[in-house]
Amino acid sequence: MANIIDGKAVSAKVKEQVRIETEALIAKHGIQPGLAVVIVGNDPASRVYVNNKKKACEAVGFKSFEYALPEETTQEELLELVETLNNDKNVNGILVQLPVPKQIDDKAIINAISAEKDVDAFHPENVGRIMIGDYSFLPCTPAGAMELIDSTGVDVAGKNCVVIGRSNIVGKPMAMLLLHRSGTVTICHSRTQNLAEVTRQADILVAAVGKANFVTGDMVKEGAVVIDVGINRLDNGKLCGDVNYAEVEPKASWITPVPGGVGPMTIAMLMRNTLTAAKAQNGIHE
Ligand code: NAD
Repeated sequence: MANIIDGKAVSAKVKEQVRIETEALIAKHGIQPGLAVVIVGNDPASRVYVNNKKKACEAVGFKSFEYALPEETTQEELLELVETLNNDKNVNGILVQLPVPKQIDDKAIINAISAEKDVDAFHPENVGRIMIGDYSFLPCTPAGAMELIDSTGVDVAGKNCVVIGRSNIVGKPMAMLLLHRSGTVTICHSRTQNLAEVTRQADILVAAVGKANFVTGDMVKEGAVVIDVGINRLDNGKLCGDVNYAEVEPKASWITPVPGGVGPMTIAMLMRNTLTAAKAQNGIHE
């Protein structure tokens, strides 16, 4: 039977640490970190994410600025807002909630966000920095997954790590983080052959596929650490991960549930990135 990795508890710890550091930053330097969240259009899921980010900002003591733009916003208008936020000293982090409506090229928007304020770590400069291991921010979801692995006390060095999924926001950076920790890393994707054979080698298995119950018991090695990044909504409205929990839990040594695993970590890491950004922009290194 696996130990369950409690993402709610770990994320609460991270946020509490950020809150304490923020309090000190305000008291000592008079600097209150600020996060600007931009949402374009009316996507209900995006709306929920943006509200959660706003609440998290309040809880840790940040200023939060919300910009809700209409569905028909043009790319030029959005670029103009990003430029204004780049130049606003009260704003330390800028996050444009994706996806954006189709008339807007999300790459152009990501590229326009100042790299120092890119708390999602999607800007090519930050992506490149992650590649060479010289980074200020890590993308929030893989950073959160790594924090959960660390919470188990399992040392990644020398372990076989398998990441299923190669997206720019989860799979690829996750693989890079595991590599920086000296894991032996394999990235699997939709064209991987004999997937189960590969995943059965994993001491640490990270699933970021976007398919409910995709990872079954026969794909997992006895004693593996299993991190489920997937968030899938079933027809009955319930949330479900990429891992078939009932089958995998008895084999794993550690496992993240969905919900309550990686999900809560993403916002906690966003708070940490914003605090890091605020300190760096004010030349504070403590
Ligand atoms: P994506 O669709 O961009 O990437 C999915 C990846 O899965 C692709 O690289 C693809 O090659 C791979 N894949 C698809 N079918 C496969 C198969 N049959 N065998 C092996 N690999 C296969 O998705 P994403 O943005 O990386 O997100 C992945 C999951 O993580 C989704 O469920 C998403 O909702 C979730 N997610 C969660 C958080 C969070 O906060 N916890 C954040 C981002 C994404």
